[in-house]
Amino acid sequence: MPFRDCIGHQQSIALLQAAVTNERLAHAYLFHGEEAIGKRLTAIRLAQALNCEQPPEADGLDSCGACRSCQQIEARTHPDFFVIEPDPESDHDGPARVLRCVALARGAALAAIRLGREGGADPVAHCGFRGEGRLVVAGIAADNPMLSGYVDRGHRDRVQVEDLERELPDDVVQVMFAGPLPAMLDLYPRLVAGLGAQARVERTLYPGHEMGFLDVLHPQVSKGNALEFLRERWGLAREETMAIGDNWNDREMLTVAGRGLVMGNADPALHALGLEVLPTNDEDGVAVAIERYVLGGD
Ligand SMILES: [Zn+2]
Repeated sequence: MPFRDCIGHQQSIALLQAAVTNERLAHAYLFHGEEAIGKRLTAIRLAQALNCEQPPEADGLDSCGACRSCQQIEARTHPDFFVIEPDPESDHDGPARVLRCVALARGAALAAIRLGREGGADPVAHCGFRGEGRLVVAGIAADNPMLSGYVDRGHRDRVQVEDLERELPDDVVQVMFAGPLPAMLDLYPRLVAGLGAQARVERTLYPGHEMGFLDVLHPQVSKGNALEFLRERWGLAREETMAIGDNWNDREMLTVAGRGLVMGNADPALHALGLEVLPTNDEDGVAVAIERYVLGGD
């Protein structure tokens, strides 16, 4: 269907037409906006206008809507027109789903809850083996707005119980603590010593924000292991993987990836790994890495 027959998007269409008239058409356009307002249709019309064999005599670029090229694009059979859509059979796209869940053993979860309580911290049990992400909590101390803030951001998933140890669900994935940095730095060695080989304790520390997170996980659970799992599943070579990190819980992943990149604002412990350092997040460090290594600079 030609542009002239379409309702709405006049501004976007005029912009695209002007770009062609002025020979300033970009190599790519992103059509972004609410659902079902005709983004895809407008993109298809642009493709038709650019490929039309008998463009109408008009002020701006348009298609005839009837020539072979216009019809082939409509029918998705044009040799130079591709529609790339998520493949429902593939893991790469489509709705998120859980590929693997390695849960924390119940005994380890209970031990972590007890150790946290003894250390004055409020435990949160992350539950749900199918990605439900329920946050089960008993109480959160009034002087820990950080943790209440975190839990309440997912308020629909918050499950309030009286006694977390007694009412601990059967599908605990991990036990988490969050709070002021000194409290987390104090609790970390207690958890490591108290849990031993039963669990892995990961730190995510934000000294700039004076806060931190501790995650108590199954010993085999880490971002590094997850990367290895996906790499094998998708049949990729190690050299084809890239990881970007800024915190303690990224360390293993950074060393497992073919290319590990450290954010400029990362924890000093990551800088010590001797990997390439990117600009900071305020300087678009991740975008720099994607431009350099994915979109192909060098
Ligand atoms: Zn045409």
